[in-house]
Amino acid sequence: METRVALEADFIQLLARLISESDDGDPPIERTGKDLTCSQPVLGQWIDDCDVPFLLETLALPDEVFAQEFPGITLSQNDREVFAKTLVMHFTECAHCNAKKAEDVAWKLAVDKAFVENKRTIGQFLSSTKRKP
Ligand SMILES: [Zn+2]
Repeated sequence: METRVALEADFIQLLARLISESDDGDPPIERTGKDLTCSQPVLGQWIDDCDVPFLLETLALPDEVFAQEFPGITLSQNDREVFAKTLVMHFTECAHCNAKKAEDVAWKLAVDKAFVENKRTIGQFLSSTKRKP
C-alpha cells in the first residue's frame, strides 16, 4: 500500500514537472473565485472535495459499472443523473464552484496535454516502476 502511495506521488511529481516545463506560454492554473462563498455549501462540499470532471464522469457511469466500482453506494443511474444536473446547474449560479470547476477542467486539459506530448517519458516511467519488486 505504501509503495502504491509513493508511486502515485512520484507520478504526480513527474506530471507536475512535465506540465511546468511545457513552454508554450499557457497561463498558470489559478482559481479566481476561491475567496467567494458557495451559495449551497452541501453541493459546494462535493465540488471542493472532488475533481469535477472525474465526479461528473463517475455519476454518468452505467449502473453495472457504478455498482462494481462503488458496491456500498445504492444510487440508481437516474438518481445520479439528477445529482449531476443539479451540480451542472449550480455551476451556472455559484461563482465559487464555477471557478473550482474551471480550475479542475484546466488541470485535466494540462494533464491530457502532458500525456500526449510526453508519451515516451511517461511510458518509460511506468515500465520502470513495473519492474520493481
Ligand atoms: Zn457553490
